[in-house]
Amino acid sequence: MRGLIIKRTSKKGKGLFANKNFKKGELIFHHDKSKLKKLFLKEISKLSKEKQEHSDYVGNEKYVIDFYPCSYMNHSCSPNTVINMKSILKSEVYALKDIKKGEELTHDYSLTAVDQIDNKKGWVMKCRCGSKNCRKKITGDFFKLPKKIQRKYFKYLPPYIKRKYKKRLI
Ligand SMILES: [Zn+2]
Repeated sequence: MRGLIIKRTSKKGKGLFANKNFKKGELIFHHDKSKLKKLFLKEISKLSKEKQEHSDYVGNEKYVIDFYPCSYMNHSCSPNTVINMKSILKSEVYALKDIKKGEELTHDYSLTAVDQIDNKKGWVMKCRCGSKNCRKKITGDFFKLPKKIQRKYFKYLPPYIKRKYKKRLI
């Protein structure tokens, strides 16, 4: 994909890197999962570890295996991109700040962890992103994030989650 490159990182496996400069607010790429095969969790559990790590929830208890550039993006508590989910299958990735060629692109996993909102099951991952305001753990529930972060990122959630949770935020 233009302007992007997948490379090994020092600590986090593979990552997605900018191969050109991006301006704050610029659309970096579109992401469309609608043509991928939809699988149930029990089917996913039979796949390789690599494939399992690239599974994304797409609603109605189904998942897709996604090896698009987006799926190589690592988490950061101070991300330089944000994923604007048009729907659970289609999203756009924007630069949250000016990004220089060679920088790793990151986003905040908690913002796209929509499966947990449906399933009501929480997951927690230790975070070693190393940013100044690292939360130390990544939770799968957007609504467990600090209120300040929720307010900042609410507009990027998929429309159906917004409708469901509008009242909760206010
Ligand atoms: Zn962190």
